[in-house]
Amino acid sequence: MAKPKIASDWMAGCAGCHMSLLDMDERILAVAELADLRATPITDLKEPDASGVDVGVLEGGINNTANEEVAHKMRQRSKILVALGDCAVFGGVPALRNFCGVQAALQRAYLEAESNDAEVKIPDDPELATMTRVRALQEVVPVDVYVPGCPPDADVIFHVLSELAQGRKPEVKGELLHWH
Ligand code: SF4
Repeated sequence: MAKPKIASDWMAGCAGCHMSLLDMDERILAVAELADLRATPITDLKEPDASGVDVGVLEGGINNTANEEVAHKMRQRSKILVALGDCAVFGGVPALRNFCGVQAALQRAYLEAESNDAEVKIPDDPELATMTRVRALQEVVPVDVYVPGCPPDADVIFHVLSELAQGRKPEVKGELLHWH
């Protein structure tokens, strides 16, 4: 029987959730025994197969139209969609800007931060922040499994992926959840 396919990608946030996935260390081999790891930090492919995957894992909040496209593409191509980490689950760190607005956040980060020199300007990059507020994944597409944490521990990621790879919906118990 063919192994289930797993793909992952990230949106607005940081690489912390993907680093935590890599922190599974040798347990990655155990997951690879159970599943065909497609677009993941391990294979470095950038998006899920057009033919679709069984499990799509997305980290990060939705901050711009590029993030929105990633969310829709992963949803369309995945039978089960996992929101990995606080940014995907409820907006997390990038959604802090929702309280002050895009321009105020960019001004504070680029023009007012003491660590920046006088030459620094707000980048003219449409990918930077094109939406008035950062949204959680479930505000844009339906989500099947939520894995909170910033980042979620490698233990909980291993539990979730190995359960899904064996066709079971994972139960993420409170004792597995930690915030660093
Ligand atoms: Fe980074 Fe935390 Fe967001 Fe994961 S949940 S992308 S570790 S800020």
